[in-house]
Amino acid sequence: SPASAPGRSLRLPVRPGIVGTEPYGAPQLDVPHLLNVNENPYPPDADVVASIAADVAAAAGTLNRYPDREFLGLRADLADYLASESGVRVAPEQVWAANGSNEVMLHLLQAFGGPGRRVLSFAPTYSMYPEYARDTLTEWVAGRRAEDFTVDVDAARAAVATHQPSVILLTSPNNPTGTTLPLATVRAVCDAALEVDVDGAPAVVVVDEAYGEFRRIGVPSALELLEEYPNLAVSRTMSKAFALAGARVGYLAASRDLVDVLRVVRLPYHLSAVTQAVARAALRHSTALLAQVDALRTERDATVAWLRARTRDGVPLDVADTDANFVLFGTFDDRHAVWQGLLDRGVLVRETGPDGWLRVSIGTPQDMTAFKDALVEVAGL
Ligand code: PMP
Repeated sequence: SPASAPGRSLRLPVRPGIVGTEPYGAPQLDVPHLLNVNENPYPPDADVVASIAADVAAAAGTLNRYPDREFLGLRADLADYLASESGVRVAPEQVWAANGSNEVMLHLLQAFGGPGRRVLSFAPTYSMYPEYARDTLTEWVAGRRAEDFTVDVDAARAAVATHQPSVILLTSPNNPTGTTLPLATVRAVCDAALEVDVDGAPAVVVVDEAYGEFRRIGVPSALELLEEYPNLAVSRTMSKAFALAGARVGYLAASRDLVDVLRVVRLPYHLSAVTQAVARAALRHSTALLAQVDALRTERDATVAWLRARTRDGVPLDVADTDANFVLFGTFDDRHAVWQGLLDRGVLVRETGPDGWLRVSIGTPQDMTAFKDALVEVAGL
């Protein structure tokens, strides 16, 4: 039935798919240790701030005009960054960007999903994906990950064949589990996608590498498969490793043909001149901005080792293998009580993932000490 606006008698013709739905989002609370949305705990340093401020000031003088709609300058800078990070060189026209990789994903589903079509992913995975599906009227289908959160290749192939999705979303490292996918798995899914028949075309495979830079040395990026598969898109973000979540810049690399379809569905001038200026200034400082990635990886591995050495009543904690800047651990009979107990001690983590698990983002050494001290108290480790 039509919903009412809060506090008013006016009834609104709310779309049936969203009636009664709460807006997505983790609590934004003012506590000392924010370890709940996988942010980078290190703010940009003074040099980076000065560069960003200078470039934003220059952009401010042009704000009477719409921004560069094709933003090929930023796309070229992102292509250069990807080449230096992964060794894979793509042309600027093979790069796309938007306000966070959230919007990049929305563009993908606006372009390749839609009524009568399906998007397939493998749960547990990022909880925003079903919302992109809902908002593009695409049917959401979730295959299961194995007990250890890996994706079984045969099960994935079978799911693709059964569901005939137009879009397949793989996440590597996966949120909230931290699991990376071997390139062989991505390749097998790309091959299975070529066998799909959606209006005479194969499926698009999206590998969400939002946490890609945190992967272990030697784990390859799916960018390496781009040349082989014109139906593959690999998305990244400046929100995590780049410590730029507040700027809202996500991007992907794919074939030119795939990117050209995304240009059709974007809103005109979707990436503001201010955003473009911030992103380009930040990319000139990528070495400084990414400097903490190694430290965060080390802190992550230490956190995993610490958690694995903890026991309750002689039983060790479960801790998922992780290549991201967070760790999924558990399991707790009453995870909400543990979450609340940590919050009461100034440590905000995330209640997410399968029943009984909690996810903690990797913060500064001080954040992690506070987290460990609080957890020992709350969970009786
Ligand atoms: N993909 C995954 C797997 C994520 O965890 C997140 C953020 N939590 C995003 C995409 C979106 O990030 P952003 O929009 O900040 O780029």
